Amino acid sequence: MSTETKWQLAACIGENPELWFKERSRTVDAVADTRYAKDVCHNCLIRSECLDDAMRVEGRIGPDSRFGIRGGLTGYERANLRRRLVAMQLKAKAA
Ligand code: SF4
Repeated sequence: MSTETKWQLAACIGENPELWFKERSRTVDAVADTRYAKDVCHNCLIRSECLDDAMRVEGRIGPDSRFGIRGGLTGYERANLRRRLVAMQLKAKAA
């Protein structure tokens, strides 16, 4: 599947993109919007590819530089995932 074709399967197409960038607000509406965006992501056919792409593009940047929900995870959640992956790689190398 081409990259272009892959992104045409994104479940967020046609959705309000602002809902994917409210993760840092704790208002009731923002929390509900974030929950909605994550639900859309969890039903997306290309969720794993989207998350892989975000992790690759964001690389080593910290949680404060990661914005928006991608692959169903917030920027902070992706930073935590990155830390866990690095810890697992270091553990595997030491074994
Ligand atoms: S995983 Fe979420 S952000 Fe990524 S393409 Fe799918 S719906 Fe959009």
